[in-house]
Amino acid sequence: MKFGGTSVADPEAIGRLIHIVRTQHAKKTAGDAPVVVVSALAGVTDALVAVAQFAEEGQGDRAAAAVRSLEERHVAVAVAITSDDNRARLLDEVRQEFKELAGLVHALAVLREVSPRSRDAVHAVGELVSSRIVAAAFAEQKIPSVWIDARTVLITDDEHNTAAPDMAETCERARAIVAPQIAAGKVVVVGGFIGATANGVTSTLGRGGSDYSAAIFGACLDLAEIQIWTDVDGMLTADPRIVAQPRVVPQLSFAEASELAYFGAKVLHPSTILPAVSKNIPVRILNSRRPENAGTRITADAMPAAGCLTAIACKRDVTVIDITSTRMLMAHGFLRRLFEVFERFKTAVDVVTTSEVSVSVTVDDTRRLEGILDNLHNFAEASCEREMAIICAVGENLRADPSLFGRAVTALDRIPLRLVSQAASRRNITFVLRDSDVAHAMMRLHETFF
Ligand code: ASP
Ligand code: MG
Repeated sequence: MKFGGTSVADPEAIGRLIHIVRTQHAKKTAGDAPVVVVSALAGVTDALVAVAQFAEEGQGDRAAAAVRSLEERHVAVAVAITSDDNRARLLDEVRQEFKELAGLVHALAVLREVSPRSRDAVHAVGELVSSRIVAAAFAEQKIPSVWIDARTVLITDDEHNTAAPDMAETCERARAIVAPQIAAGKVVVVGGFIGATANGVTSTLGRGGSDYSAAIFGACLDLAEIQIWTDVDGMLTADPRIVAQPRVVPQLSFAEASELAYFGAKVLHPSTILPAVSKNIPVRILNSRRPENAGTRITADAMPAAGCLTAIACKRDVTVIDITSTRMLMAHGFLRRLFEVFERFKTAVDVVTTSEVSVSVTVDDTRRLEGILDNLHNFAEASCEREMAIICAVGENLRADPSLFGRAVTALDRIPLRLVSQAASRRNITFVLRDSDVAHAMMRLHETFF
């Protein structure tokens, strides 16, 4: 059970967390205690990023002030959720953690140098203290529980700031250190996002890494399910800013989630749950304010209900580049030349469609557009059109049910489509159209399928 920043933001949120864990735990048999992975309290990692930045700029006073205010916030939460001995112990731990942070930050500010390794030591404090606070909250409620330092279990390489887990070592340690506690019926509380190198130096998995931690622990311990508790009801069938009253997607496949991730359906980043999905462990997204809702379940190979798509998504403000050349006719090497231009200008291409003499692509980063067009002009005609948008309809059913494609196109019959593409996976249909038509098109598709 992973709880994100907003689900541990303050004493009320922590109260909800306890309630959620207790309710689920009560339903299970002994020896089935959950592992609780927590993020830093909402906003804390951003604040720690700023602290490291101040130190790097030599602004020691500002950095120290920011550390003090973070300490105050954590102390206030700690006081609110504990009493007596629990409180004394927790305050000691929290104060000690911030004392070390203050010393570290002071040294960094004097040196005006923050290495990736030092940055991790600063950033990790959010999860170190949030996990201790949540562990103390369980103790206060007399729920059998134990805090485990993630750095003794989650072992990573030394690519600080974006460290990758050593799965073999981590799994071995998880089985040795975490599993016995679960078997003893204790709720294990552990900080997400953080780990340590083989030499014991603190590392982090990259921003948003707590989901990744949850998937790693779940995979190593062969758990039945991974729950990502957040502040939304799950993945939606469409962006609520564009389509009135989208629905929650009850389940989707990992591949569908990956298709949707590009379109900002970023409840979670699919690559972070890969360790779980590759072991066939379902991942559920749940709302900690509405725990009774079923949320969205992501599995290796879910199928939506017959006759339906899974979700539609869009990306606005993209640019279409049309490249035409008669030299392309029956020639080889043309596409290589063309894509080399995009590579040279470090610009990602999203949608691609081709005919025998033309290629159209979309890009959303237009910073180097001029150079790209210039270079393309060396061997082809090239023009661009801005203020376009991509709509992507995703569904595993597209493969089995050819009528879905027809229904989607029919829904858009009054709207000029610039490009249409369906890739070999046949899990999505992509339409490129004028940005000004997006809202209308999304509504038509949503009405048709949902
Ligand atoms: N606290 C970290 C971050 O904000 C990790 C996480 O929340 O997943 O990036
Ligand atoms: Mg987060």
